[in-house]
Amino acid sequence: MIYKEAYEKGIEILMRIHGEGEEGRREAGMESRLLLESVCGTGLQDLLMAPDRVLLEEEERVFLGHLERRSRREPAAYILGEQDFMGLRFAVSPAVLIPRQDTENLVEEALRELTEGARILDLCTGSGCVLLSLLHYSNECTGIGTDLSAQALEIAEKNTEQLGLAGRASFVCGDLFASLKPERQFDLITANPPYIRTGDIDGLQPEVALCEPRGALDGGEDGLLFYRRIAEAAPGYLNIGGVLLMEIGCDQAQDVTRILSDRNYYNVEVYRDYGGHDRVVKAFKGIHTAE
Ligand code: GLN
Repeated sequence: MIYKEAYEKGIEILMRIHGEGEEGRREAGMESRLLLESVCGTGLQDLLMAPDRVLLEEEERVFLGHLERRSRREPAAYILGEQDFMGLRFAVSPAVLIPRQDTENLVEEALRELTEGARILDLCTGSGCVLLSLLHYSNECTGIGTDLSAQALEIAEKNTEQLGLAGRASFVCGDLFASLKPERQFDLITANPPYIRTGDIDGLQPEVALCEPRGALDGGEDGLLFYRRIAEAAPGYLNIGGVLLMEIGCDQAQDVTRILSDRNYYNVEVYRDYGGHDRVVKAFKGIHTAE
């Protein structure tokens, strides 16, 4: 099979999951190309410049295997074992949530708040994508990521090595703050906690509902469980004037704002993502914030 034929075959197979329309073709084309490039070690220019390149038998076998897995709704990021986020490449496995573009808004708002040398705590760190991006794009900051899943933290450690951030990031396994000493030591706490209502998970697209870790999605009956727990405990770990920044679901701004205001956080603000949806909430710890 030649390169271009493999690409077209990928489109044909992947349109069965993405749909027959223009949008489906575009999505299928992008995924087909990415899978093919990862198998052959090629780039976009190869499709344009060397479409007649003959695939090795092994390349063809692996590519068809990838298409088969993708047809069964396994996300491309898990098949490839990586996902780009904030212009950086992160290793992923089914033990971690796949980093989302939406979450880049959280990182961007957090970067605005970071001062040189700040100490960061990232809860529900998963792949470590939030913490490691913050460290990569800032000066002299250090941070700790926590996660309930030891398997997730193995991926976070791998990403730390790959991004050359070993001296600046560390990870501890535990439920939110459970394995940390209750000391006010952080200037910034970030979290992209699980926030899907339990009853809504099975209605999500199969890639998410069947393949991504449920523990990274499930925010309890009303989806707000982790916001309550974080809002309650975070003041014990934040310096006065410290910032708490969390990703939220697009219909959760009002509830999460109320949870934070009830605990006397101040300057509580909500930011939208590029799609115009509420996505990030920011709050400061004041002297009256409940501890
Ligand atoms: N912090 C990781 C991310 O934003 C994981 C989040 C989670 O597991 N809920 O992708």
